[in-house]
Amino acid sequence: MIPLSIPELNGNEWTYVKECLDTGWISSAGAYVTKFEDMVAEYCCAKYGIACMNGTVGLHVAQIVSGVTADDHVIAPNITFIATLNAIKYTGAQPILIDVDPGSWQMDLELLEEFLAEGCEMREEGGETFTFNKKTGKRIKAIMPVHVLGNMGDMDRLITIAEKYHLDIIEDTTEALGSTFKGQHAGTFGKLGVFSFNGNKIISTGGGGVIVTDDEELAKRAKHLTTQAKTSAMEYIHDEIGYNYRLVNVLAAIGVAQMEQFPEILKKKHTMDAFYREQLKGVGDIQFQEVTSGVEANGWLFTFKTSRMRELLDYLNANGVQSRPFWMPMNQLSMFTEEIYITKEDHSNSVYEQCISIPSSAGITQQQLETVVQTIKQFYE
Ligand SMILES: *Cc1c(COP(=O)(O)O)cnc(C)c1O
Repeated sequence: MIPLSIPELNGNEWTYVKECLDTGWISSAGAYVTKFEDMVAEYCCAKYGIACMNGTVGLHVAQIVSGVTADDHVIAPNITFIATLNAIKYTGAQPILIDVDPGSWQMDLELLEEFLAEGCEMREEGGETFTFNKKTGKRIKAIMPVHVLGNMGDMDRLITIAEKYHLDIIEDTTEALGSTFKGQHAGTFGKLGVFSFNGNKIISTGGGGVIVTDDEELAKRAKHLTTQAKTSAMEYIHDEIGYNYRLVNVLAAIGVAQMEQFPEILKKKHTMDAFYREQLKGVGDIQFQEVTSGVEANGWLFTFKTSRMRELLDYLNANGVQSRPFWMPMNQLSMFTEEIYITKEDHSNSVYEQCISIPSSAGITQQQLETVVQTIKQFYE
């Protein structure tokens, strides 16, 4: 079976992990944590990086430090991995789901703007201006764009909207390490961005995340909250309800080794993406994800649309090519059916019904790539 997406561990992973084991620095203290944070922040040109257990908890903490409370709304796209919505729910806030663009599969900014203009009102509270949902009366504190599959929306437009309506941008950039918009790295457009290093992501620590931000205060508070809000190195004094969300040194060691190889891995992803686009163009009714103008996507996981998705999925998996359907839209999951969903034509559903992801590991061989393409062509013949 040609796997969908497996990590590439051909660098210093063994050496660094062995060093952790040899020295006993396997847990929450140790030099690799800081090094990993710095490497990720430096790579995407952010000032601060805060390592955490995974992307999900990173999204949770990013919202807390941003000031999201249980009385607020947070806006998110309807097509995303469940973790985005779970993280909003952990804060107690109520999500507002926005349908996606049928070409880029990112949050539809036209719909977003219309909703903010017509369904919301701005007013002052405590000397600050905020946007409130007219129906619920709740404040909309933040917007969480998700850079689905390493693509992004028009970030210029998103920033203009967020500024106009006083919304904090928290980027769910868990899939987009290495993606840029007009040369600027994903994760650095908002107040905070959150990367994931889960096993299936472009690089991996097994499980892990890094929050990035340019704001020193937010960075400090995020570090504080992810480490049980302890105020003293010696004494057990804590000044708020914190979380044990830190990344351990042994995983950060893997992260450092992975970051060292990242430029090479990113190059391989771009080559893979270009190969698939060239070879699968015009095959059956295949439609590629439209990369937004100005975006250079990281090519993390190759995914396309076809009206015969279910059949193709069965065919590929039966013929040694591991493939997966896309996420069920959030509004269709039993926990979220009652949430606010802003849509006209429910593009989310057609994206869900038609999208299929095919093998995209960084280590995929040319031979395997050709087998994947051949198998897909056979299916449509
Ligand atoms: C992977 C992912 C997450 C969560 O990251 P974990 O590290 O697995 O917790 C969140 N959002 C999206 C869109 C993801 O793909």
